[in-house]
Amino acid sequence: MKPVDQTRIVVAGAGLVGSLLACYLGRRGYVVDVYERRPDPRTAEVERGRSINLALSERGLDALRRIELVDTVMAPALPMHGRMMHGVDGSLTFQSYSAAGDRAINSISRGALNATLLDAAEATPGVSLHFSSRIDAYDLAANTVTVDQDGDRAEVAADIVLASDGFGSVVRQTLESLGRVSVVTDMEDYGYKELTIPPRDGDFALDADALHIWPRGASMMIALPNPDRSFTCTLFWPKSGSGGLDSLTTPDEILGHFTTDYPDAVPLMPTLVDDYQFNPVGLLATVHSDPWQADGKVGLVGDAAHAILPFFGQGANCGFEDVVELDRCLSEVGDDWNLALPMYQERRRHNAEAIAQLAKENFVEMRDKVGSRTFLMARKLEHGLERVLPGRYLSRYEMVSFTTIPYADVVDRSRRQQRAVGAAAIGIVVGVAALTVAAVRRAARANAR
Ligand SMILES: Cc1cc2nc3c(=O)[nH]c(=O)nc-3n(C[C@H](O)[C@H](O)[C@H](O)COP(=O)(O)OP(=O)(O)OC[C@H]3O[C@@H](n4cnc5c(N)ncnc54)[C@H](O)[C@@H]3O)c2cc1C
Repeated sequence: MKPVDQTRIVVAGAGLVGSLLACYLGRRGYVVDVYERRPDPRTAEVERGRSINLALSERGLDALRRIELVDTVMAPALPMHGRMMHGVDGSLTFQSYSAAGDRAINSISRGALNATLLDAAEATPGVSLHFSSRIDAYDLAANTVTVDQDGDRAEVAADIVLASDGFGSVVRQTLESLGRVSVVTDMEDYGYKELTIPPRDGDFALDADALHIWPRGASMMIALPNPDRSFTCTLFWPKSGSGGLDSLTTPDEILGHFTTDYPDAVPLMPTLVDDYQFNPVGLLATVHSDPWQADGKVGLVGDAAHAILPFFGQGANCGFEDVVELDRCLSEVGDDWNLALPMYQERRRHNAEAIAQLAKENFVEMRDKVGSRTFLMARKLEHGLERVLPGRYLSRYEMVSFTTIPYADVVDRSRRQQRAVGAAAIGIVVGVAALTVAAVRRAARANAR
């Protein structure tokens, strides 16, 4: 085994996960080269309409706290303490995320988060960042990557290759073509498109302390606040067909549809038609891959291993947890990658599968259920249980967003809680029925006398 400071690691992709990974590996003393196909996002122009902000919660914060970055990242963050549901009639219903109303998820600029992580990685001894450097190919036998930097191609040898090159990971595709990783990609019939609500009279046009949802059954719009007092709205609609993203083309069709379905938002969106017509449609998919490593020398991290749907706001949070777990495994096995990579995969894969499933289920909840009375009552009941059974009952949302309880344990625990609540409810109903029957019998006997 080579000493850490002579072990050369290639990280594919300097997105959120790759740049955090570089920070962690650099701190361990490795020689890290990060290859990113885009130009440096700190100086290049932002792509139009591509997931401008995201919700960061406890898992992501935990990863940042461990490398003393949480204060920098959180300084411009906007806490969102609950959901604000917008009815078609313009009615507003607020529902806090936690029982006491004190816990919040945080709206963060994706660009600012990436820039902070890149600055930190760059400042870490041993880490080198290479932009406009696309990894074109990966050779498992030689453990080399072919890097194309503005047309100049070069082979780069590594002791370890870590693929954090996102949903379409070239490294994962190579491993798949060699039969070393099996991959199932579930493409959704839904896509997403971003729109803007600019500041109004210099202030937020909507309550900035909430994640706004316009649930409309088969589709929805959400909005998260930005530090410049605008909101980024995201439509999650079917890609095609009736009510689909491709069904509206002319300004009249666009305005007509929004006036009917999102009437309170239209006056706040002066660039609606332009945004709708020119912003791209993003794809939504879940990637299941197995295994996440090969031969103890190449591993998959973040979306490259497990792209998930964005409906629990956990994709990046989950990828950050991958990095923490990989770091923990390395500590436990004295930086022996032959042991660390299989251990990392063993501990993370089933958790990624669990959050992938929860994210899928949450889409139905967000677009279809959050506005209903039954749903609101159920959440009130949950918050009531959290108050009377502090620490013993935790809603699924709380566990996912405000703890680092492993996702698979969240699923098990919320099932157990549901069974216990169901049994208690049946017990109460049976008890009340027995008391009622006894009272009726007593009354009947008294009448007979
Ligand atoms: C609409 C939407 C909303 C979301 N909201 C949230 C949210 O609220 N909270 C949350 O936690 N997550 C959210 N996510 C998920 C989150 O964006 C992803 O999970 C996260 O970006 C994954 O980070 P990553 O670094 O693994 O991958 P990416 O962010 O995809 O980064 C991969 C990087 O690799 C680079 N790259 C790709 N191929 C190559 C190559 N061949 N060579 C070199 N470089 C390459 C790319 O340019 C990119 O910089 C959302 C996603 C979407 C689509």
